Amino acid sequence: MTPAESVSRRVGQLRSHQPAWAALPVASRVRWLSDYRDWLWDNQSRLERLLIEETGKPATEAGLEIPYVVQAINYHSRRASRLLADRRPRPHGMLAITKRQLIVQRPYPVVGVITPWNFPLGLSLLDAVPALLAGCAVVVKPSELTSSAVAAAVAGWTEIGAPQVFGMVGGDGGVGAEVVGAVDFIQFTGSARTGRAVARAAADRLVPCALELGGKDAMIVLDDADIERAANAAVWGAMANCGQMCVSVERVYVEAPVYDRFLAAAAGRAAELRAGTDIGGFINPAQGDVVASHVEDALARGARALVGGRRPGDATVLADVNHAMVCMAEETFGPTLPVMCVADEDEAIHLANDSRYGLSAVVFSGDRRRAERLARRLEAGTVNINDVFANLFTLALPQSGWKESGLGARGGSDAVLKFCRSQAIVSARVMPRRELTWYPYTPVRRAVLHRVSRLLGARGLRRRLG
Ligand code: NAD
Repeated sequence: MTPAESVSRRVGQLRSHQPAWAALPVASRVRWLSDYRDWLWDNQSRLERLLIEETGKPATEAGLEIPYVVQAINYHSRRASRLLADRRPRPHGMLAITKRQLIVQRPYPVVGVITPWNFPLGLSLLDAVPALLAGCAVVVKPSELTSSAVAAAVAGWTEIGAPQVFGMVGGDGGVGAEVVGAVDFIQFTGSARTGRAVARAAADRLVPCALELGGKDAMIVLDDADIERAANAAVWGAMANCGQMCVSVERVYVEAPVYDRFLAAAAGRAAELRAGTDIGGFINPAQGDVVASHVEDALARGARALVGGRRPGDATVLADVNHAMVCMAEETFGPTLPVMCVADEDEAIHLANDSRYGLSAVVFSGDRRRAERLARRLEAGTVNINDVFANLFTLALPQSGWKESGLGARGGSDAVLKFCRSQAIVSARVMPRRELTWYPYTPVRRAVLHRVSRLLGARGLRRRLG
């Protein structure tokens, strides 16, 4: 654990190296990120072993994190130069026409990246990459439960001999709060409860924060859907990473004509899952209690467990659930799939939107236009159609949590710019002794201003000359 006074010292060190990093041509920063990408590939198996040790993830799931980060390095590196280039907007309007205008992108000096335990490497590096490319220094504060793979990955930056602008501090929420108190931009991923505390602390300092928080993602299965694919998607969407994903499928609404068929298919798939190979364990043991309480509450209120339901780590399919049950309102973050029958798509939309969260959602339908119509009515930052988690791999699209699922967006084609402040530089092109708007205020100068502004800004001859 990094003691509190050392957090500010560490941030101070990173801050002192940042101006030289920002002064490098973008191409040089891209080269360092390319070297780092090579190091990640060369150390992939060691990093994945650490991940598996500290999270208990199946090897297939641990094996996704580094390719995911590398994809982000490649994608953002290709775009960084163009995004960070100066822009010169065309002059416009009476008062701006004689000015040369310039927009310059200036990085926030130090970005703090605070992350949870469910994807330690993926989430820590995913945000660090565009921030480093932008010219920021980055300090990562991973979850106290899962810091060894992140520590090893951050050490790789030093091993390749890159400028000392990427570091880590270890510890619990107290250390996270120290980071929030020391950096210039906070990129936080975690629960809505902590997100609120971070936002309050950021507001006190008037520093920006971006929040990627929890979810209660709904999946809607319409009567014309491919039920086999929908059931496979629902089971993977609910059980992958032992259900510990912000975008896990947490509740399913199925139109009545296909409800029984969907349930049978989903229960069949879930029953085939093997502990250890397909489903890992809880990274945070306390999560098991939350999952158990949600399942117990549902069963006590009349739900049926078609599969599992006895131990919290088991793949569990719950039928006949309703919105009085906790499992349809609170984030479960475990391998459960509660399924509810709905009369029609209007009821499905109404129930899907009946949540304080709005991270992402899923619609299954044989008619893409119908699915898109529904997507536009869903209150969620992302909607996957006939798919789950597809948006996580589409880096060109922003990931934004609506409602209590977040503030701001992660990724997208211009992700690098998020870590920059736009600076406006205006210079006079013609330099009379004084401008028309300056002193002295005289009737003649006011009349000229009045005439020119109407000529340039009004519509129709009468108003232009008026
Ligand atoms: P958490 O909020 O308990 O902790 C997240 C991080 O914040 C940890 O590093 C923790 O040490 C730190 N922290 C705690 N108190 C802090 C404070 N006062 N100031 C600063 N930092 C503090 O979350 P968790 O239990 O680790 O993770 C699970 C949650 O994360 C779930 O709600 C899940 O949905 C969410 N999540 C969201 C996304 C997303 O992209 N939207 C991705 C993954 C996980």
